[in-house]
Amino acid sequence: MIGIAEAIEIVIAAVHVQPQEEVGLGAAFGRVLAGAVVAPRDVPAFANSQMDGFAVRASDVRGAGREQPVRLRVSGTLAAGSAAELAVSTGCAVRIMTGAPIPRGADAVVRVEDTEGDGDQVAILVEAPPGQFVRPAGEDVRAGETVLERGRVIGEADVGLIASLGRPTVPVGVRPRVAILATGDELVPLGEPLGPGQIYNSNAYTLAAAVRRSGGEPVPFGIVRDDRDSLRAAYLAAARCDAILSTGGVSVGDFDYVKQIMDEIGLERRFWQVAQKPGKPITFAEQAGRLYFGLPGNPVSALVCFDLYVAPALRRSLGMREVFAPTAEVTMAESVATARGLTELVRCTLADENGRLVARPTGTQSSGALRSLSLADALVISPPGEAMLGRGERARALLVRDHRLAAAHPFATARPGA
Ligand code: AMP
Ligand code: MG
Repeated sequence: MIGIAEAIEIVIAAVHVQPQEEVGLGAAFGRVLAGAVVAPRDVPAFANSQMDGFAVRASDVRGAGREQPVRLRVSGTLAAGSAAELAVSTGCAVRIMTGAPIPRGADAVVRVEDTEGDGDQVAILVEAPPGQFVRPAGEDVRAGETVLERGRVIGEADVGLIASLGRPTVPVGVRPRVAILATGDELVPLGEPLGPGQIYNSNAYTLAAAVRRSGGEPVPFGIVRDDRDSLRAAYLAAARCDAILSTGGVSVGDFDYVKQIMDEIGLERRFWQVAQKPGKPITFAEQAGRLYFGLPGNPVSALVCFDLYVAPALRRSLGMREVFAPTAEVTMAESVATARGLTELVRCTLADENGRLVARPTGTQSSGALRSLSLADALVISPPGEAMLGRGERARALLVRDHRLAAAHPFATARPGA
């Protein structure tokens, strides 16, 4: 049986990069850049004022102070958006608003709060060194500079940055289409009553959400019965997608046909079973650049396997470089027995206790108990050699959920010495 590291490497090596498409900037948030964004011009394109005040010549106001104001003649007003047709000659100033272009001849701005008088005279009450409150052209971005690298997930500030360059569209990776097949005779669609021995098909919903989170587009194939013909037909129909996820039917049960069908339809099967808990029965195959993940049926195993293998593969197919869940060092708040011979991923909450991240198991670690994963912030890694994670022991944790926000704002308590 292979280990997690080897399995991840096999999966990543099989990934093909998605083609690209051009999308409008309004739809670009969260997409992955397929080409670098290079600035066609300086931003800002012209030197402009950082303050409402007066554009002056620094040499004119040298030595100015509240006791010895320098009086200048106001030769005009520049609002944001006006062209800088005015010039500032010695002894003169131009009234200027934030964002307005610095007029020729001026090299500094004095804030309106540091002046007195209105009309065509102004008393300057402070000195202004050259460059004061002037935002030079290219302060933010220089023409020709790469502002965003290929493979970057476009964030909200990035969207604004691209807009500031005047670009209405960007190239992004085409979202991989990901087929989701839920196998099992016991499965019932939501909205129908449950008969004896039946359960709702929750995996299809979990995986569709996970696919979206990793940049893919879920393509639901519904429930597939545990017979070879239904399975084969579903697999063949799903082959038009870029990746195919199934859940269930990969274990050693009498009706676990997924591996057999994968082999029958000519997929190249790369592994079956990884030395991990949960998720040991996972199987992985490929064909013609398509990735086939036979995920276990247990709801926790299915999502943990998705996080370990499918999410990085989808991200890599979009051209992302950083594709793995971040990790943190944690301290165990209590002991948990773990499987020997398998890498165990223990569902835990995390809490910052006096600067240490403390991990607490979320309850039963059964692979069927999805609530324990819903409650978890992280999967704490127990290496295969260990039969337990002891209280107080330090361990690595995979931060698999990134949507936890704080209940309290962080500013009220941040009083040093309080
Ligand atoms: P299997 O791998 O097919 O033996 O399934 C393992 C366990 O996962 C069984 O208890 C199944 O009932 C459960 N299971 C399988 N598929 C799903 C699904 N789509 N949603 C929820 N539970 C499932
Ligand atoms: Mg089954």
